Amino acid sequence: MFLSLLLASALQAEAIGGYAGGCLKGGQPLPLEGPGYEVIRAKRLRYYGHPDLIHYLTQLASQTQQAGLPSLYIADLAMPHGGPFSSGHRSHQTGLDADIWFRMSDRPIGKSEQDNPAEWPLIDEPSYRMLPGRFGPQQLTLLKLAAQAREVERIFINPAIKAEVCRQAPYDDWVGKLRPWVGHFSHFHVRLRCPAGSPECVPQAPIPPGNGCGAELASWLKDKPQLPKVSVANRRLPPLPARCG
Ligand SMILES: [Zn+2]
Repeated sequence: MFLSLLLASALQAEAIGGYAGGCLKGGQPLPLEGPGYEVIRAKRLRYYGHPDLIHYLTQLASQTQQAGLPSLYIADLAMPHGGPFSSGHRSHQTGLDADIWFRMSDRPIGKSEQDNPAEWPLIDEPSYRMLPGRFGPQQLTLLKLAAQAREVERIFINPAIKAEVCRQAPYDDWVGKLRPWVGHFSHFHVRLRCPAGSPECVPQAPIPPGNGCGAELASWLKDKPQLPKVSVANRRLPPLPARCG
């Protein structure tokens, strides 16, 4: 039933514009809990997505559950009609992005923790070193299952965590989809390709070939990564496509 509803809505749904300048028509809510996952910070109403994203997340959670992993914590997707958030990240505008925590839980978390979960960073920020014991086999399995899906275009991940993956699984073909980015100390960010039936969805340039474990990663790790400084004029959000109203 859930699947047929998703299929019906997928035919009408549309991701419009770019990941950081667009909107979403016919977005669907991710049920706040399901097999293998819980939505956190639901109060922010950022649990809507293109039906492809809802399908991807529920599939991923059932795969991780079958692999014996604890429940996933799923954070921001998009607002009901997409568009820019009032705070936080610039992207997540077309219903094709989702944040997933590295922390998992074997027990249902209470309401107050769901609203305001304790951060569980994998990295000690001042030294930029990995905290011991936090990136284990479960986190590697989660990343692998998340990245292997065909509809996943790329995953943003902290460079220090990518370096850990490169040490443990450098030859796996999904490793190239992990793209280093600043922040992301406690979660990773999945981005899906433009879906079929979304002619105005603007794709990103394709990821470079290879696993990205060499010179590119080294350049990120040379200094503590920081966002490039942008002028005030460039800091303004790009105009939204006309259909986003
Ligand atoms: Zn994100």
